[in-house]
Amino acid sequence: MNDILKDDIEVDEAKLFAPNDHNGFGTTTDHMTKHSASRLEDGSSYPILFTAPHAIVQWREGERKEQDDYTGAIALTLAGLTGGHALAMSGNPTGDPMKPTTTDSKGDDHPFKKEIMKYKADQGVRLVFDLHGIGTKTAEENKCDIGLGLGSLPNTGSGVLARAIKKTGEKLDLQVKVGFKAFAALQRSTVTTFCTAKGLYAIQVEMAPCLRFGPDEEKRIKLLQLLATVALDMLPLLNTLDQLNDWTSTCHPARYFSNSALMPGQVKVPSGDQRLGLQADISTAIARCDSKIPDL
Ligand SMILES: [Zn+2]
Repeated sequence: MNDILKDDIEVDEAKLFAPNDHNGFGTTTDHMTKHSASRLEDGSSYPILFTAPHAIVQWREGERKEQDDYTGAIALTLAGLTGGHALAMSGNPTGDPMKPTTTDSKGDDHPFKKEIMKYKADQGVRLVFDLHGIGTKTAEENKCDIGLGLGSLPNTGSGVLARAIKKTGEKLDLQVKVGFKAFAALQRSTVTTFCTAKGLYAIQVEMAPCLRFGPDEEKRIKLLQLLATVALDMLPLLNTLDQLNDWTSTCHPARYFSNSALMPGQVKVPSGDQRLGLQADISTAIARCDSKIPDL
């Protein structure tokens, strides 16, 4: 099984994302690689979506931002393992899906995000794992294999997902850190914040190079095991999560801003003390959820 997974990932990366110096299918048309894996008798898939917006190089005003290697291939493999869906940028003239534009300050109009909304409407997707890569130095400095970001509009699902990934990761001997510094996904334009603003349960998953490249193949297998297990374990909890959403009213980031009437979608990025307060509330919320979800 390990070899099959390894081969799948290497073949997908080489075929779909690495060509043209990691511009994938090039920069003349928007190209997104999609995959839906059926696990159900009626041919439908589970409401899980793995996204990889940085699977190829991003261009912003002529500046090259390197790709998050293997995130696209890992998203496709995870869709196959779980019976869910995957969406990865694989040819992109319209810039980084995670960055706002001059005409769209939230970046909500990017084709990648519109595609996510199609998955929600057409496939009933509820859970989104937004996959990214962190560099070796950041991973070592923060002593982590995986950094989780809850975005600036976290909901019940974000908290429960974070806790489940952390707890299951520890069982697999993976170091998982939640919501700080580069991993918080706090900008309004991140895929995670976009998704939670639209009522999805989403989390940003930043993966260290050792989980994406090898050479320790065991670590890559553990990563796949971890995310596939958590994704599938979340499915029976979706209705409970919906009911638990009431806690967001007590820790909604909007209350840290001068204009308390700000509605989701208009919330500005918190900074300094506001961020600390937000993180404390998220921790409390995660702890509160602990008592209500089954042991993983
Ligand atoms: Zn990224």
